[in-house]
Amino acid sequence: MEIHTKCPVCGGDAISIFTTYHIPKFGEALLTSISCEQCKYKSSDVLILKEDNPKRFKVKIDSPEKLNYRVIRSSYGNIKIPELGIEILATGFSEGFITNVDGLILRIEDVLRDKIMTEENKEKVENLLKKLEAARTGRITFTLILEDKTGNSAIIPNER
Ligand SMILES: [Zn+2]
Repeated sequence: MEIHTKCPVCGGDAISIFTTYHIPKFGEALLTSISCEQCKYKSSDVLILKEDNPKRFKVKIDSPEKLNYRVIRSSYGNIKIPELGIEILATGFSEGFITNVDGLILRIEDVLRDKIMTEENKEKVENLLKKLEAARTGRITFTLILEDKTGNSAIIPNER
């Protein structure tokens, strides 16, 4: 569903898109995104329709099939990969999304490459990018932790 709305930044015409995902054995998740033509403001979030208690998921990703687990991350979801020293703490203004474990790691790689890497930390970040790529392609085992005080984030095994 697509509706016209007012941009929260510039007040111009913006478009809100609502997409419902049905996740087997789990329920409905609603992905909302807003984008503004004028100022290019973009934001998205996820709402799990029947959950509201704080949630903590901890999954050891030790087989290729677990890379396909569904990851729902609301703007309040904290993401941690202790083995790689990664902590992405939600501010409530963070981006919400629905993806798979490998897709999540790809997003982290993009953020590191586009926003975090500087001339000074280049070597360190490139080293971390190599480890993330190894994790994403199933060459190393790692633990994925997802915490959300609003209960709108989850890691869900795929249905067989
Ligand atoms: Zn705008």
